[in-house]
Amino acid sequence: MLILISDAFDPGLPAVLKKYGEVTDDKARQAEADVVLIRSKTKVTKEYIDASPKLKLVIRGGVGLDNVDREYAKQKGIIVKNTPEASSIAVAELAFALMIALPNHLPLADASMHEGKWLKKELKRTELYGKTLGILGMGRIGTELGKRAKAFGMTVIAYDPFVKSHELATMVPSMKDLMQKSDYISMHMPLTDDTKGVINKTTLADCKNGAYIVNTGRGKCVIEEDMVEALKSGRIAGYATDVWYSDPPENSPLMGAPNVVMAPHIGAETKENLLRIGVIVDQIVGDFAKGKK
Ligand code: NAD
Repeated sequence: MLILISDAFDPGLPAVLKKYGEVTDDKARQAEADVVLIRSKTKVTKEYIDASPKLKLVIRGGVGLDNVDREYAKQKGIIVKNTPEASSIAVAELAFALMIALPNHLPLADASMHEGKWLKKELKRTELYGKTLGILGMGRIGTELGKRAKAFGMTVIAYDPFVKSHELATMVPSMKDLMQKSDYISMHMPLTDDTKGVINKTTLADCKNGAYIVNTGRGKCVIEEDMVEALKSGRIAGYATDVWYSDPPENSPLMGAPNVVMAPHIGAETKENLLRIGVIVDQIVGDFAKGKK
């Protein structure tokens, strides 16, 4: 069996997997691979699958499967697995870090000090304590974020069409309701036909004046041009994003917009998460090698 590690995993993983066969990171050997390990960079499209005649198992280290054509993989009898539980804490901690960075102006405070400026009077902070956090998508990551927000004394509300009640959040009946009530909005829903572009002119107009939005979900859930307009008008006080239309972004209007905090899709990039992903990948490949699916 040839296992192709196509994206970035824990450096110790090849040694762990070699008990199942040959392990390579040479993408030129894609056509020989029985198993391909991907994160978000490799796109397992119809073309990729057609160019991989031996492929039987795709493992996506992480949560989102929007970079895999699952329908076509199924038609071709290719098993697709992911490691959804592994990344929740890593992503929730980044979402929280971004939520702290926005009202504390941390990027500007740091950059201005490096430039020899002293902006003590200019940088007006606000606190998270006592504010309302609205979580869009109350799944694994949303839940971890909710725990952290409670510890900071925030009121937590959430909108999720598939979750009726939750011990950490008051569920609200509509996205509009959430946008109207939240001081902070954090996005944790998957990218689907329903969520693509869901943060747009209309939904941004529902927000409280001066709300903050954090996106560690998916870039394409936001219409970036509409976000830029909302930032320029001040309706949205700040937008922090880890996720983009493409990695890296090409010509994103957010680059020149005010009050944007940006990260290069590092939500899942903790050492601990890569180790957790490695343990689950070992188990999945082990089951596959034994003939279990
Ligand atoms: P999850 O499946 O546990 O939770 C997603 C929740 O979103 C579910 O409860 C679902 O019911 C809900 N949902 C679906 N449609 C919705 C809608 N229209 N409005 C509101 N909620 C909706 O997934 P998770 O593990 O919490 O991950 C969430 C997303 O985070 C992933 O799909 C992925 O896109 C993203 N993610 C990003 C990174 C990163 O590096 N920034 C890493 C991991 C995951």
